[in-house]
Amino acid sequence: MIVTATLSLSTAGPTFTGLRCKECGQPYEAGARHVCEDVCFGPLEVVYDYEAIKSRVSRATIEAGPASIWRYREFLPIAGDPIDVGTGFTPLLKANNLAKRLGLRSLYIKNDGVNMPTLSFKDRVVSVALTRARELGFKTVSCASTGNLANSTAAISAHAGLDCCVFIPSDLELGKVLGTLIYNPTLMAVKGNYDQVNRLCSEVANTYGWGFVNINLRPYYSEGSKTLGYEVIEQLGWELPDHIVAPLASGSLFTKIRKGFDEFIKCGLVEEKAVRFSGAQAEGCNPIATAFREGRDFITPVKPNTIAKSIAIGNPADGPYAIDIANRTGGNIADVTDTEIIEGIKLLAETEGVFTETAGGTTIAVLKKLVEQGKINPEERTVAYITGNGLKTTEAVVDHIGKPYTIEAQLDSFNAAWRQAQAEQAG
Ligand SMILES: *Cc1c(COP(=O)(O)O)cnc(C)c1O
Ligand SMILES: [Zn+2]
Repeated sequence: MIVTATLSLSTAGPTFTGLRCKECGQPYEAGARHVCEDVCFGPLEVVYDYEAIKSRVSRATIEAGPASIWRYREFLPIAGDPIDVGTGFTPLLKANNLAKRLGLRSLYIKNDGVNMPTLSFKDRVVSVALTRARELGFKTVSCASTGNLANSTAAISAHAGLDCCVFIPSDLELGKVLGTLIYNPTLMAVKGNYDQVNRLCSEVANTYGWGFVNINLRPYYSEGSKTLGYEVIEQLGWELPDHIVAPLASGSLFTKIRKGFDEFIKCGLVEEKAVRFSGAQAEGCNPIATAFREGRDFITPVKPNTIAKSIAIGNPADGPYAIDIANRTGGNIADVTDTEIIEGIKLLAETEGVFTETAGGTTIAVLKKLVEQGKINPEERTVAYITGNGLKTTEAVVDHIGKPYTIEAQLDSFNAAWRQAQAEQAG
């Protein structure tokens, strides 16, 4: 007699079959590599057996999974047990107050500012990359970071018992530096911008044979961002939104949300529908927004100068793919000033009780701008992706918020301060 049991990954084997060049299609084994060395130097992507995934996965099996990215493990490039630090399944908030302020009917905030363990979306990509790094036998892991990635890599490698050496630009916010050092990795603060850090790391990767989550492990790393697409579908009751707005650094996150949506459509988990994709950059580092505005499909690198350091990549690897998605879906890519970014952070905090970092301020400011320009229809069900936490970038807002009333521990003193507070609010 043949007994049909629900297959688990361990008994059914991995659902990914290798890597493939995104440009020319050349296949590669699923090792630690990220460019098409044999043919065209294009980026490599993970290849899946979607028939196998379809046969194992349904809405019910996903809903029965853990409240983390690992409920989608069949869609992720890991062979065995995940490194599980509770990453993912962050709240999708219905943002009625902000919607009203902006003149939208249906707005949601996907809040990765409360992701685990380090309060940014990077925990998703690092959980996947380090799981794969461990499978590939790496003992030391590393990354070139704009800040959040260093936090995630340091934290999750500590949990997994991997050695860690991470690289950041030397001018990062204290919260990002401290949020790395507390896990006691080796931290290299490089005198230069992210693009210089990244170039140095490519050389180190070649020389030292470490697993760099966003260099030689990049095909696996970037797949983690797909979960931001899956979760929104599931949290909207297994429906796609009409419009999404997300920040762009390298452009990877943006393209992988698209891939997540496409995979759920392909596997019959959600009904197909057009979704517009809009991207957000800071004016002080806007190579993708500029190319989009000028109708180009190639990126002219810039030298970053903005408070939105976490998305300050002057030479974004996935920029052309992001532009293509914005164009094909009828979306936009726009940029905003540092002043608008600060206003965006405050607006989200005051209307929804969500304190985001500068990247989130960029997203909210671009959302506002696109609504004002008529580029987001008030009737569209819109999701804004908030990717990081404001407590890591307090420098950006400390001079732009109120001050406490310092009083004596006596009722008289409070009475006077309260009168003053009310007068100030009225006037
Ligand atoms: C890294 C990062 C991004 C964007 O990442 P890409 O995938 O490189 O575009 C967005 N927001 C925050 C907070 C980040 O740290
Ligand atoms: Zn190729």
